[in-house]
Amino acid sequence: VGQRSWRVEVEVKEAPPIRPLPPRYRVHVRKARLLTLLLKEAIHYRFNRKVVLSRPCIYGVFSGRLGGFRPQHAKCVACMRCKQEYPSVIKDIVPNPEFLALGDSYLTPEAIWTINREATTGGDITRGMGYKGPFSGPGFDSIWTDMSEIVRPTRHGKLDVEYISTRVDIGRPFVHLDAELLVAQEPRLLTSNLPIILDWLPPQMTSPHISLTLAKAAASAGTYAVIPRAHCAEGVVPQDHSSSVWAYVESQGEAQAPIRAAAIEVAPQALEAIPTLRRSFQGLVVQRLPFSPGFEEAMLRALELGADALHLCADYHGRGYGGLENAFITELLRRAHLRLLDERLRDGTTLIVSGGIIRAEHAIKAILLGADLVAIDMAALAALQLYPEGEARLPSRTRIKLSDFPLEWGVQRVANLLNSWREQMIEIMSAMGTRDVRRLRGEVGRAMFNEVEEDMLRRYVAGELDAQGVAP
Ligand code: SF4
Repeated sequence: VGQRSWRVEVEVKEAPPIRPLPPRYRVHVRKARLLTLLLKEAIHYRFNRKVVLSRPCIYGVFSGRLGGFRPQHAKCVACMRCKQEYPSVIKDIVPNPEFLALGDSYLTPEAIWTINREATTGGDITRGMGYKGPFSGPGFDSIWTDMSEIVRPTRHGKLDVEYISTRVDIGRPFVHLDAELLVAQEPRLLTSNLPIILDWLPPQMTSPHISLTLAKAAASAGTYAVIPRAHCAEGVVPQDHSSSVWAYVESQGEAQAPIRAAAIEVAPQALEAIPTLRRSFQGLVVQRLPFSPGFEEAMLRALELGADALHLCADYHGRGYGGLENAFITELLRRAHLRLLDERLRDGTTLIVSGGIIRAEHAIKAILLGADLVAIDMAALAALQLYPEGEARLPSRTRIKLSDFPLEWGVQRVANLLNSWREQMIEIMSAMGTRDVRRLRGEVGRAMFNEVEEDMLRRYVAGELDAQGVAP
């Protein structure tokens, strides 16, 4: 194949933040002792400036013009080497309160830091520092992916050694020929280069400028952005980008006039508008439904009315609505997938999920649990450096600190984020020995669940299971 790449290409360019993030750590130095140390080192190394300024930090925290007298806090990764090697010079390395004030309890400062890095570079986020976090945690952190194929170097999708596809189909695929009526069910499909779309944002969290940014970023990455119906007009999103947007329709009235979009996403309260839309609109009709009590019946009703795909959404913390606040998206999604399987409807539709998906691994885990693709919201806003004010759980109550940003910069940041997530997904699939993201849907056998593992351990300790996990 010569120089030709088999991979989906997203044009990646460095896009540094327009407002630098506050440093994660603050380094407190005893300046008099630092001076003594530097003098000793300067004599020992014959005034070799480079060597002297590399002390006591190899990450360059003290290599500015004023060295340790004005530490470059942003370079500190809290490795604690300086503190161990020069305990008398380094007073303390402490988390920066300004950094800790970013985001909320779900979109944590660390998550924002990661998204910022992904949106800046467009690549993966290998830091070479090892993993310092907990072994398991709530929500997505209680699921691990099976990386048993990681030892096979030929499976390296990121280096084009082996092609790993992230393309997904959205809509109603061709399922069967109805023998009685001798008519084939007409397929209505869109293809996305990656299993991620950009989600609709409530009016107080968006603007025509944000919609245009998301539409252009989606076009550049080969995916879709769901934007308000009013923003689909010429003057906000140009005609050549209309094939990358889905119009979000909130009422039957909004569905009347012709719509320039690849698909229509119908708001939960406008479910009964599906038959009208089905007749007047040639593209895909996607029904949005919240994870609230009765969502399974609502899914069946939407499919019966003619929806091509379902978009199930949790809140921004990945929780259900109404009486389902204590259930996490992982559990709710599993219920939805299994119900569609039971009804023999799963292969005839596409399941999109959103809410609480703020890392690339969340997307893969959602697909393992039964989604075809995910929609991202707060992560895309964080890439644009638009962060929530206070706790941001319910979309209707979430406020964003809106600020201006250049269009091109915003498009590049979101495209970089999407590419970075794609690279990470390929890395995970490569380690799992999977060559196509479509094959991963509902493959729970490729995941391990903390509760299950802990239960097996408990039963093993109690003598109920042997070392192979089998009851004696
Ligand atoms: S903790 Fe590590 S990165 Fe931070 S100043 Fe010390 S040596 Fe440098």
